[in-house]
Amino acid sequence: MKKADIATFFDRLAAALPEPKGELEYVNSYTLLVAVVLSAQATDVGVNKATRALFRQVTTPEQMLELGEAGLKQHIKTIGLFNAKAKNVIALSQMLIAEHGGQVPRDREALEKLPGVGRKTANVVLNIAFGEPTIAVDTHIFRVGNRTGLAPGKTVLAVEQKLEKVVPADRKLHAHHWLILHGRYVCKARKPDCFACVVRDLCAFKGKTTLEGVPKKPAKKKVPVKKKAAKKPAPKRPAKAKKAAVRKS
Ligand code: SF4
Repeated sequence: MKKADIATFFDRLAAALPEPKGELEYVNSYTLLVAVVLSAQATDVGVNKATRALFRQVTTPEQMLELGEAGLKQHIKTIGLFNAKAKNVIALSQMLIAEHGGQVPRDREALEKLPGVGRKTANVVLNIAFGEPTIAVDTHIFRVGNRTGLAPGKTVLAVEQKLEKVVPADRKLHAHHWLILHGRYVCKARKPDCFACVVRDLCAFKGKTTLEGVPKKPAKKKVPVKKKAAKKPAPKRPAKAKKAAVRKS
C-alpha cells in the first residue's frame, strides 16, 4: 500500500465504525485480563458464554482465589485448554495480590511477567484498560496487515513494529479494533468480502473477490512446440572405400 494512502485507509475504517470496541465482555481491568488470557486460541463468543456467570461472582483476584482452581474450571470447562488456563488465572491472581496490591499493573514488563500473559495479551490490556496506543497483532491483524500491504511482515512482531511506524498518530488508539473487526467480518481468512470492502481501491491484495467469487487468472497462451526436423540419413559409403578407411585407422 502506498504511504500516501494509509491515512485514507484509516479514515474509511473510522467512518464505517466511529466507536470501535472489542467483543470480549469484562467489568474491570482484572476481568479484562482474565478474559484475554482465556481467549487464547478460543473465540470471543465462546469466552463470553463462560465468563458471564463467572464475572457475576468474581471481579477481583481475591475472589478468584476464594473460588479456587476447581471452581474456576467448572465455569470455563467449555473453553479450549481450560486446565492450563485455570492454573494460569489462579497463579496470576496470586501474583497480582503479592506484587501489585491486587491491581492490574499499567506496565508492559510487569504484565508480561504474569503467568499466561504474553506480548499480545499485555498489548490488549494496555490498550483497552489504560488507553495506551498499543496494537496487539492477532491472526486477523496479521492477515490484514500482509494482504493489504499496510504492514507486511513474516512474524507477528514484525507486523506490530511496522504498524507502529505507519499508523497515523491520531489513529493509533483505535487501530487495533478497526483492524481486528475488519479482519473478522470483511477481510475474512478464507473468502474476503472484497466487493463490499471500503478500502478495496487502496488494498494491494491480488486475489480480490467479486460477488461471483474469485476472478480466474487468464489462461496462459500455449506456445506451439516446434517439431525437430528429421535427420537426413547419412549417405552410404561404397563397400570398398569403407574397408580402406578401416585399414588406415
Ligand atoms: S479488498 Fe479484500 S483483501 Fe483487501 S482489505 Fe478489503 S477485503 Fe481485505
